[in-house]
Amino acid sequence: MPGPVERLVVVLGDQLDADAAVLRTANPERDAVLMAEVDDEATHVPSHRQRTTLFLSAMRHFADTLVRRKWRVRYVSLDDSDNSHTLVGEIQRAAQALAPKAIALTLPGEHRVQRAVATWSRRVRGPVELVPDGHFLTDLEAFAEWRRERRRPVMEHFYRAQRKRLGILLDHGGGPQGGSWNFDASNRQAFASPPRPPQPPHFAPDRVTRDVIEAVVRRFPDAPGRLDSFGWPVTRQAALQALSAFVDQRLASFGPFQDAMWTGQRLLYHSALSPALNLKLLHPREVVNAALAALDKGAPLPSVEGFVRQVIGWREFIRGVYWTEGPEYGARNALEHEGRLPSFYWTGETDMRCMAESVRQVLDTGYGHHIQRLMVTGNFALLAGVHPKTVADWYLGMFVDGVDWVTLPNALGMVMHADGGVVGTKPYAASGKYIDRMSNYCKGCRYDPAKRTGDDACPFTTFYWDFLSRNQRRFAGNPRMSLMLRHVERTSRGERSAIATHARTLRRTLGIAAT
Ligand code: SF4
Repeated sequence: MPGPVERLVVVLGDQLDADAAVLRTANPERDAVLMAEVDDEATHVPSHRQRTTLFLSAMRHFADTLVRRKWRVRYVSLDDSDNSHTLVGEIQRAAQALAPKAIALTLPGEHRVQRAVATWSRRVRGPVELVPDGHFLTDLEAFAEWRRERRRPVMEHFYRAQRKRLGILLDHGGGPQGGSWNFDASNRQAFASPPRPPQPPHFAPDRVTRDVIEAVVRRFPDAPGRLDSFGWPVTRQAALQALSAFVDQRLASFGPFQDAMWTGQRLLYHSALSPALNLKLLHPREVVNAALAALDKGAPLPSVEGFVRQVIGWREFIRGVYWTEGPEYGARNALEHEGRLPSFYWTGETDMRCMAESVRQVLDTGYGHHIQRLMVTGNFALLAGVHPKTVADWYLGMFVDGVDWVTLPNALGMVMHADGGVVGTKPYAASGKYIDRMSNYCKGCRYDPAKRTGDDACPFTTFYWDFLSRNQRRFAGNPRMSLMLRHVERTSRGERSAIATHARTLRRTLGIAAT
């Protein structure tokens, strides 16, 4: 018979690190672990079936790992008849059943969950210990201090400071290896012919994952997305395999083609390691070390630097912004956009080829790489004037790597510019010509990326010029927008009026504006 429980260690679905501090300081002989699958997490925004499956399958595999390490695990499954289906409800039930003297958990990575835990922990009698999340490379206090010292946070400045602080990609004098902090100029290539990237490993669902898939289909019949292609790594071992495959086979070409897109190509040279990183199956330090080791073996510096920047720069910067901005960040709407998300974001049914390709891929796999997210699905929502929180919720639920701390600042700040310039110094707005330059999507599309008005005008292009026109005054003081705004000034009044009329019609036809 197991003895009394000293501490109850709560492990959440995105905290699957067996070496986390909260577990390192616990004792398997005296303490117990609680893990709970609750409806709340799969329904607070519409969640892609692959996303829910990934989280739950990874949780079940992780619980098995803990049991093998002799932990006493209380695991609550989706189908358990007495599951309360809220995290707080399950902590309360476990506390009643096991009567621990204390409860401990890693600080949740989301304001919503942190609020729920804080409210509940004020009501319990024993101590509740919140352990800092050691999964990241930057201490939140240190980020807050870095930010306090600056008028505005700029990712590039943060990234350079990270390189220096962590001693990554520096020359002997402490300057950037290769003489430059980034190699963006050589990293913006498009494909001249169909690319043939090596295929990443596909992790066929094992018995555990198949059980989860059945439960997800049964329990969330109306959830979006398809499940038949599911092949994400759900264990640390599989995640390490995915890391090796990326570093050995795709990293070298990642740099030059990181902004490129091609019909039918889901990953190209991207790592797709974000799901494993966000679940904590991988640590960012080991991912960066693997890339640096590849550099030593001859991988090109621009590719390695571009990848390292994503991990030690963007990812850490975005998290810092999430926590320093606070819970009100999600309500920001600097551009005052109120439009609805068009229905094709849920079906992929649209005659815009770039959008159909990008959305169908998300529905099929729960994934799209950063340029599809930023410059196709995101760019369209920005230009068309969709409400930013609607867009952020879509990204949170529809992508397998969707977790609030990373999705919210990326979607609301970077994509929608709804934070007024905290994450990005200018909106990432581009016309159809950008998509034409970086992909083959426009070939065979019924629209013409160069046209702003008329039946065959590319909706991206119409909305782009309308967006600039509508926001001309707002962006007048932004030097990074001056070139774009000069083009608007050169457009005749008649043409601007025709663009505005066409944009209004499009908004109504696509269901973005009320009719
Ligand atoms: Fe997309 Fe416009 Fe190109 Fe069509 S023409 S694929 S809508 S960018």
